[in-house]
Amino acid sequence: MSCIFCQIADGKLPGDILYQDEEVLVFPDIQPQAPLHLLIIPKKHISALSRITREDKPLVGHMINTAQEMARREGVSEKGYRLVINCGQQGGQLVPHLHLHLLGGRQLSDQLG
Ligand code: AMP
Ligand code: ZN
Repeated sequence: MSCIFCQIADGKLPGDILYQDEEVLVFPDIQPQAPLHLLIIPKKHISALSRITREDKPLVGHMINTAQEMARREGVSEKGYRLVINCGQQGGQLVPHLHLHLLGGRQLSDQLG
């Protein structure tokens, strides 16, 4: 299996797993863009946001709930944070497995792209 995030989800790559349950996994981004930069991924392989279906709705909701909980745990809830999903080539997506970036711990730019 060549998907790097599936390998992480299957425990085949060493990594710092901060949270996991049956559906999602959270780990730090290897090239952090902010003092707090976590990735929230579904364990199920979905290649991009453009590929989610109606059936994935609870899963995507759960990813956002998990991000909210991680932000609280990491102490950025009050000051604020940002959630980002890059989709496809022009959206800047590099890893073809759906992931939610949780960024915080510094003032983020008001520029979105
Ligand atoms: P994106 O551009 O939205 O596809 O973001 C992919 C993100 O995954 C980038 O921020 C990378 O730094 C991060 N990344 C790539 N490989 C790994 C890895 N093995 N562990 C943690 N983060 C990774
Ligand atoms: Zn995958």
